[in-house]
Amino acid sequence: MTNKRTIEAIITPPPPHMVGDGFRVHSFFPGGRWIDRKRMSPFFLLDYGAKIEFTPSEEPRGVGVHPHAGFETVTIAYHGKIAHHDSTGSSGIIGEGDVQWMTAGSGLLHKEYHEESFSKTGGMFQMVQLWVNLPAAFKKTSPKYQEITNKMMGKHLLSDGISFIEVIAGEYKGTKGPASTFSPMQVWNIRLKKGANETIHLPAGFNTGFLIIEGSAVINDKEASSDHFVLFENDEGEINITATDDAVILVLSGEPINEPIAAYGPFVMNTWAEVEQAIQDANKGVYGILED
Ligand code: MN
Repeated sequence: MTNKRTIEAIITPPPPHMVGDGFRVHSFFPGGRWIDRKRMSPFFLLDYGAKIEFTPSEEPRGVGVHPHAGFETVTIAYHGKIAHHDSTGSSGIIGEGDVQWMTAGSGLLHKEYHEESFSKTGGMFQMVQLWVNLPAAFKKTSPKYQEITNKMMGKHLLSDGISFIEVIAGEYKGTKGPASTFSPMQVWNIRLKKGANETIHLPAGFNTGFLIIEGSAVINDKEASSDHFVLFENDEGEINITATDDAVILVLSGEPINEPIAAYGPFVMNTWAEVEQAIQDANKGVYGILED
């Protein structure tokens, strides 16, 4: 008999709040009853923008210039498009189904907005922003971007011939994801047609959670519906998933970074001295200049 990995909690979406005027997010972690700053390490923060219909706007909604340092922001656009600009001179558009993997590392300034044409027409918007912590050895790495279009992602077809696993980072049965990461992790979208079934295995030591983006599924005999986060215990066992409706499930699974965390606002460091330094650097213009 094979063991099944234990579900510790199915977490309902916390009340949403606005980030700027463009992102209405449910902050699943850190915080709340289940997930402190280390429980999902290397994943530090999960902001989920559940589906919302935006009305047309001439002025793109979003969040103005702000710094980040010491970690990576991973933005996944499920519906709608996001534009970004930063103090290194880079800019780009995250299209529907695409991912932007930004390494803030030693620090930068950026701004994030609804993309201009999306803003003008308005429409359905659904996104995830994930903060991935960096091991101390890489906190000061130079800022960089990985623009990961949907086409670039590894696609592992499942036995029904239409359901598949989209690999953003890591690997599933030999299908690799394009993201380069600073610690071992798996970031996938499992895209199942109603009735599809798949059994997966992730290392017990990897902190693991599923965000149900779309539809619903029975996961190890428990029903989980859209906008819920399934947190697994770190026990050895398989995870069996049966879609009870067409489903999209974001899988987060990674090896914990067992190092101290000192986090304040947009900075995730190892010590308070580093946080104070980062605040000073941001204020002194060390991260560069970016117009609002
Ligand atoms: Mn940001």
